[in-house]
Amino acid sequence: MATVRSVNELVKQGFEGIEKEIMECTDCKLHETVTNKVISKGSRSPKVVFVGEAPGKNEDETGIPFCGRAGKNLDVMVAYMGLSENDYAVINTIKCRPPNNRSPLKNEINACKPFLQAQIELLAPKVIILLGNTAEKAFCDAEKLEWGVPRIVDGKSTLLKIYHPAALIYQRSRIEEQNALIDSNRHLWE
Ligand code: SF4
Repeated sequence: MATVRSVNELVKQGFEGIEKEIMECTDCKLHETVTNKVISKGSRSPKVVFVGEAPGKNEDETGIPFCGRAGKNLDVMVAYMGLSENDYAVINTIKCRPPNNRSPLKNEINACKPFLQAQIELLAPKVIILLGNTAEKAFCDAEKLEWGVPRIVDGKSTLLKIYHPAALIYQRSRIEEQNALIDSNRHLWE
């Protein structure tokens, strides 16, 4: 039976405590098939947090988020945004790779959500950049976001949905579109 997790209790445990809880988590079936759980990378006091979907093959093998081709596209995007290494962090909506890279199921997103919320609470970024629709599902239950249109949440962070870097691998024409979304939102992190 899945553990009922309190976000506040997770936050009190700090980054190391959350990491330990994730490593030991068996709250959904995905833990049965992973090689490594994938937790985060980057700054611990970032201006911007990028939220991806789920670990892929490379991430599962290494335990590092966005380390494959999509990661290279993310690096290019980060450079285009003018962010330095200390300015950003990268996490995923769920921490275990779904078999065959299928999209995460709603129950998996919900099971993993306390970890995501606690990570965001501790990282306390100005801007949360949702990389695609799966990340959006973890943050917006009712009213969906429009691509590139920011929304302030809880009077603190701003949510912004842009394309997932993996989508840019197969649709190169989207890069210009993505850059335009970034250009119109630079004031959020500059
Ligand atoms: S995806 Fe999240 S909730 Fe599911 S087993 Fe992995 S860490 Fe736990």
